[in-house]
Amino acid sequence: MKTPFVTKEKLEEIIKEVPTPFHIYDEKGLRANAEAVKKAFSWNKGYREYFAVKALPNPSILKILQEYGCGSDCSSFTELVMAKAVGNTGDMVMYSSNDTPDEEYVFANNMEAIINLDDLTMVECFEKAVGKFPKTMSCRFNPGGVFEVSNGIMDNPGDAKYGMTADQLKEAFRIMKSKGVEHFGIHSFLVSNCLTNDYYPMLAKTLFKLAVEVSQEVGCHIAFINLSGGVGIPYKPEDKGNDIIAIGEGVRKAYEEILVPAGMDDVAIYTEMGRFMTGPYGGLVTTAIHEKHIMKEYIGVDACACNLMRPAMYGSYHHITVMGKEDAPCTEKYDITGSLCENNDKFAIDRMLPKIDMGDILFIHDTGAHGFAMGYNYNGKLRSAEVLLHEDGTWEVIRRAEKPQDYFATFDSLPIYDELIKNM
Ligand SMILES: *Cc1c(COP(=O)(O)O)cnc(C)c1O
Repeated sequence: MKTPFVTKEKLEEIIKEVPTPFHIYDEKGLRANAEAVKKAFSWNKGYREYFAVKALPNPSILKILQEYGCGSDCSSFTELVMAKAVGNTGDMVMYSSNDTPDEEYVFANNMEAIINLDDLTMVECFEKAVGKFPKTMSCRFNPGGVFEVSNGIMDNPGDAKYGMTADQLKEAFRIMKSKGVEHFGIHSFLVSNCLTNDYYPMLAKTLFKLAVEVSQEVGCHIAFINLSGGVGIPYKPEDKGNDIIAIGEGVRKAYEEILVPAGMDDVAIYTEMGRFMTGPYGGLVTTAIHEKHIMKEYIGVDACACNLMRPAMYGSYHHITVMGKEDAPCTEKYDITGSLCENNDKFAIDRMLPKIDMGDILFIHDTGAHGFAMGYNYNGKLRSAEVLLHEDGTWEVIRRAEKPQDYFATFDSLPIYDELIKNM
């Protein structure tokens, strides 16, 4: 059974000041998980988690994670600015992007971020844009083919736009070494939302072997291996969550089997988890405002896909709790919809739930990663507020909801919003 991290009473208290819909985050859960991640990799001296900012781009969240040693993994200019805003610069920032604009290389390099090149052609692009290589550079590897772990085929890197082949990576290292780069990193991201403790250890083995080969063939110092993101979370009640301690141990075993005998026992392990760091510690809070009985039973809520795109985009499952009816039998079959002019604007389809009454508060689980972050403004919808629930039960708005003023602010040809709505 999945239970919300917040009570109905607490939500009612918050809703008095912050109307639904909004995302709420659980500071206690976030902290406990960040602590566990730190512990799982504490065997590795240089270990660092670079939180994938795109998963939950909010300075308050980045600051909490910073307390556990986490840096920022950025892939755009504004993400770099946000990292800088919370004091993450230098080697606390990983800049992992593809199809990268020149100006962003310049900005990332000025921040002294670690730069991870997506392609061999980017070596020249980077040099042209920046002029000179820093002492440390990283490259993203794509092994091609399909990536299999113990419970089957996980994903198809052969179809992915990211990364370079092993030969290209070696060539990139050779060129950069000849231009003064002294320390190298290897990065790879092969699967998303992987629910097995084997993924990181398997990926680590692949990358460690490659690192030994590259260090011997190119004669360069491999300073870190970046396992990137992809560690999954249990969205469905029946899913079994990952055990980060077991994952850390699995990576340690591979390290001792492959890197240590090759004399490469100074290699730092980096991760760039997003979903695993924040996903379960967020929820979307929304109110049932309409019901409709046609060929199917519909419940209309005040949130829509603009607040949480995953179900519409990937058909993703997000568990829903009707607050106060946790123990009521799930006797009704509903589609839970938003108000967008898009038929895929549904948080759930044919979901068995307790009977929902108008005004009921629905808690949509696991929106702490790629939730608010993937929001958009279709149909003129405005982004919601984000609320942080502190450990002591107090709470704080860590991002206010967008206002119509924000929406109209980018139309330079229009009068200001207050003029527009005069006499409306
Ligand atoms: C999206 C992304 C991540 C984080 O992925 P999760 O699946 O959320 O862990 C890490 N690194 C890069 C380069 C990414 O694009």
